[in-house]
Amino acid sequence: MPETRDLPSDSGSDFGSGSDARRDSGSSLRVASLGSGSRGNGTLIDDGRTCVLLDLGFNLKETRRRLSRLGKQPQDIDAILVTHEHGDHIRGVAAFARKHDVAVYLTSGSYNPKRLGALPSLHFINIHRPFGIGTLSIEPIPVPHDAREPCQFIIASGGSRVGVLTDIGHITPFVVESFELVDALLLEFNHDVGMLARGPYPYRLKARVGGIHGHLNNEQAAGLVERLDLARLQHLVISHVSEKNNSADLAVLAARKVLGKWPGQLHVASQDGGFPWIQLPEKARAGALGG
Ligand SMILES: [Zn+2]
Ligand SMILES: [Zn+2]
Repeated sequence: MPETRDLPSDSGSDFGSGSDARRDSGSSLRVASLGSGSRGNGTLIDDGRTCVLLDLGFNLKETRRRLSRLGKQPQDIDAILVTHEHGDHIRGVAAFARKHDVAVYLTSGSYNPKRLGALPSLHFINIHRPFGIGTLSIEPIPVPHDAREPCQFIIASGGSRVGVLTDIGHITPFVVESFELVDALLLEFNHDVGMLARGPYPYRLKARVGGIHGHLNNEQAAGLVERLDLARLQHLVISHVSEKNNSADLAVLAARKVLGKWPGQLHVASQDGGFPWIQLPEKARAGALGG
């Protein structure tokens, strides 16, 4: 049996429910991607003291190659956070965790012992409760997706918050409330409704992808963007774009339509290239909670 430990009882300080000031002093958050899409995902989040990988859908060799492109080595990774058990998010997790002795955090619903095997350090997260890894505050957000216990994450440090929101069939009120105040958001623009309908997928797969437990289309994603605090948001990363049922141009068009004169930066994460580091400026703690 893999080792299972209880999580520390303190909650992440950036969510207003804890009081661990040490976790939130003087670091600046940055985020990068190893790759984004249905053939594999991996996001790096680093505040200079703690570096976590969020999902890992690449094999060992490919992961090493993609990490080094971002100036990281496997031994720089403090933990792997997993959103759900779909192969494009979990395929590389167990091998990497065993090879490099890295802790894995996921919901018990996402954990399949037959598939993952023995892990050096396994932590079951409570999907309704913020927690910490090193200097990072982490808030899991339950999402509607066709997996056993899927969540997405908001990660905070130094007063900045990065949201990762992919693999979600529709936007819930709780998701709007949770992601409203972020400095950077990696948001799924999975498919264009017309391209999916005309595309090569068999009917059942089209219904799954476009269904309420599937993936966001461009309009659904843009609908969430419209509801964000755009005065706070500095970076929007179009993510998990389908290679068969969407194009970066269509996703950008949909996003631009609702962003108006927004002065922030719009990025597109790709399957092969991911995206390079996005650095968030350090904030004063008082302004960070933002209501
Ligand atoms: Zn996925
Ligand atoms: Zn999925």
